[in-house]
Amino acid sequence: MASFTLHGIPVSKGIAIGRAHLLAPAALDVKHYLIPEEQVEAEVLRLKNAIAAVHQELQIIRDDLPKEAPPELGAFIDVHALILSDPMLAEVPLNIIRHRYYNAEWALVTQIDGLSAQFDEIEDPYLRERKADIQQVGDRVLKVLTGSAISLPPVAGEGAAASIIVVAHDISPADMLQFRDGAFAGFVTDLGGQNSHTAIVARSLDIPAAVGMNNASVLVKQEDVLIIDGDAGVAIVNPSPLVLAQYRARQERMLRDRKKLGRLKKTPAITQDGTEITLLANIELPSDSAPALEAGANGVGLFRSEFLFMGRAGHLEKFPSEDEQFDSYCQTVVSMKGRPVTIRTLDVGADKPLDEDEQTALNPALGLRAIRYCLSEPQMFLTQLRAILRASAFGPIKLLIPMMAHAFEIDQTLALIEQAKGQLRQRKQKFDEDIEIGAMIEIPAAALALPMFIKRLDFLSIGTNDLIQYTLAIDRVDHEVAHLYDPLHPAVLFLLSSVISMARKAGIPVAVCGEMAGDVKWTRLLLGMGLLEFSMHPSQLLSVKQEILNSDLTLLEPQVKKVLKASEPSAIEAAMAQLRAINSEPEIKAAARRR
Ligand code: PEP
Ligand code: MG
Repeated sequence: MASFTLHGIPVSKGIAIGRAHLLAPAALDVKHYLIPEEQVEAEVLRLKNAIAAVHQELQIIRDDLPKEAPPELGAFIDVHALILSDPMLAEVPLNIIRHRYYNAEWALVTQIDGLSAQFDEIEDPYLRERKADIQQVGDRVLKVLTGSAISLPPVAGEGAAASIIVVAHDISPADMLQFRDGAFAGFVTDLGGQNSHTAIVARSLDIPAAVGMNNASVLVKQEDVLIIDGDAGVAIVNPSPLVLAQYRARQERMLRDRKKLGRLKKTPAITQDGTEITLLANIELPSDSAPALEAGANGVGLFRSEFLFMGRAGHLEKFPSEDEQFDSYCQTVVSMKGRPVTIRTLDVGADKPLDEDEQTALNPALGLRAIRYCLSEPQMFLTQLRAILRASAFGPIKLLIPMMAHAFEIDQTLALIEQAKGQLRQRKQKFDEDIEIGAMIEIPAAALALPMFIKRLDFLSIGTNDLIQYTLAIDRVDHEVAHLYDPLHPAVLFLLSSVISMARKAGIPVAVCGEMAGDVKWTRLLLGMGLLEFSMHPSQLLSVKQEILNSDLTLLEPQVKKVLKASEPSAIEAAMAQLRAINSEPEIKAAARRR
């Protein structure tokens, strides 16, 4: 059998080896025929029943979501239910049956094709990708109409289940969950991008995956042997015995490494020269505190509170109430069992709009985002501040404010916190009088005017995602400029190292909570700059810890100085390669010190 390789977009790391199981999109099998006039209402009813059945199906999937399912998944299923209720899908195809006499499947496909074409015109890449959601919902209805349910082949024993690789034109997040129970090893799809919901779910479920393969579902045949390299975004079809053996060895090595990492859960993160590093978790919902504890986090370094405010389309109130928020914050701090929880106040706008907000700004990332939005909605902000303060009576909480650039923004925020405290005193409600207040350093202006922040605040947390976006002027959600996103740009390195060293000199704690903190590629760089606190997704915590355990600051610091001195990209890369190559074995260490 001929071997060939398909290239796509890597969305979830790891290696999967198995046999292909193809999921044909229902739309490909659709029959087209005209119905006689007297059967029109019966055909309309057939489609209505299919739509109702899918509503029920989605509800069951929603209700049966396992506790450990990623929080986004419920929201994605809700989006599919909303799409299904939209007149564009729920009514227009019925009219096509009534006026054009198309059979139900044909009417539905006609409408989906029309909608998809409209989505192709949209410039915003994130919204353009939402076309996939409409097609997935349509596919689900078609499958009910044609009686072809989505299913995996019967599985003989655990080992066999783990060796199925799903190949599809596209997969909906809800279907992914169904497959997860069948424990498939990985998946590849023709459609999708970094931002597709399916990709996000794959990452949080930790399943090797590559998307955007264009025509994998046509080129790969049922039962073909497949290797997915989720790091490279590559699928190797019918590999030679030699390639297969190489990948099996790599896969085993990765599994062994993962197991070994598991043993580090209780090991303190101390470098070889004895410096203790604090490893914190980034969470989005109170239920995320379980994986944070499981990974051995020292606390929560970033609770992105905006997720409590999003997806409220069906609610009477635009914002969650004080009590609703208090419950969430309290639940989090109690479940972290005495470890500190840093709650970031609402950061909406740009790529995280509230449901009701229409994005009218030309440059939403530069618009009324985060603290700017909060200061423009003082009652909403005071409600959140009171909820956070009240929860601080139940465990150690720190307040983190996003996107500040101006001294008056800090001063107004501090005044509002005082006002919220006063309101609670009047109500005789308890809170931590000395709650620590910190700022995200994620706008270059803040990094360059740090004394203004140091003077007013208790701690700092560097948001590298936005700091890089704003320093390099690249929209972080626009894939057309994604290649310009460069943590090693000399300007980024300068800002990072100067914030860390100035904060340390001033004796004010500083953390990094952007994606850089969770990527082992940058651990040594940040350590060598003097960073002592890292906050990241819980799944990244143990590999970062391992890198810390293998690092010696006395060796890293001089090398990081060389990285910072270099100004040409090639020189920076070379200095970084040397930094990564530093071996911290005791003898080598001693030899290096003698030199
Ligand atoms: C950041 O900007 O690095 C950050 C942690 O915040 P967010 O990704 O939520 O904008
Ligand atoms: Mg940010």
